[in-house]
Amino acid sequence: MIDRLRIERVLAPNPGPYTGPGTNTWVVGDDETVIVLDPGPVIPGHADAILGVVGDREVSAVIVTHTHEDHAPLANPLARDLDVPAVGYAPGPEFEPDLRVEDGSVISIARTELIVVHTPGHAEDHLCFRLGDSLFTGDHIMGGSSVMVEDMGPYLASLERIHHTGLVRLYPGHGDVMDDPDAVISWYLEHRLERERQILAAIAGGAGSIGEIVETVYADVDTALHPLAARSVVAHLRKLGDEGRVVRSGDEWGDAVSWVADG
Ligand SMILES: [Zn+2]
Repeated sequence: MIDRLRIERVLAPNPGPYTGPGTNTWVVGDDETVIVLDPGPVIPGHADAILGVVGDREVSAVIVTHTHEDHAPLANPLARDLDVPAVGYAPGPEFEPDLRVEDGSVISIARTELIVVHTPGHAEDHLCFRLGDSLFTGDHIMGGSSVMVEDMGPYLASLERIHHTGLVRLYPGHGDVMDDPDAVISWYLEHRLERERQILAAIAGGAGSIGEIVETVYADVDTALHPLAARSVVAHLRKLGDEGRVVRSGDEWGDAVSWVADG
């Protein structure tokens, strides 16, 4: 059944340091019916490009992985124009779901099913969508880079949830399709543990603020990405704080942190 399906990418014209080549909008379906997944931002030409790929096929829903501005804002206007539901986990800054789904929800599409997997971490409202042995990963996993993480504990658990589950292909929100999901997920897990080790070492070495930790740990990363890196550092520190491995000396995680030896 799934062999009949076509998965087509429409690259949104929003390249940048946070979005790579741009947002991948996926048009998924057969010759008759499709869904549009992550329509992206409201920018000239992109809705027309999506509709060009849809052609004369019927659209059954517009679905979003999460409500960040590079994924969701076009969902409501496009769904309204097509007279179909906009589907997501929860309302966001520029997104109001007509239909809310949760972990385990099933979305029928072209006589097959998308299974919703709630994967909080990059964002609390983040969903992946499983189609047979493929997974649409949004910003949970990107092609060719790591991702910004808001909440590290849930993020790592969300990676573990999809690890070794028989996936053979990942369709990300940015970057290229990946054909070796378990190896990619292993790298993501290892990358996070490595960052955690580096953050602990930076703190032990005297880095006392988020800024100092970022400068030490992300020295090899483009400074344009440092604000994003700072958010991942905060996410790591929250997890390490919950585990009693760092103690903050200020009221906010943006203030100085002090180091408590592991164990
Ligand atoms: Zn995002």
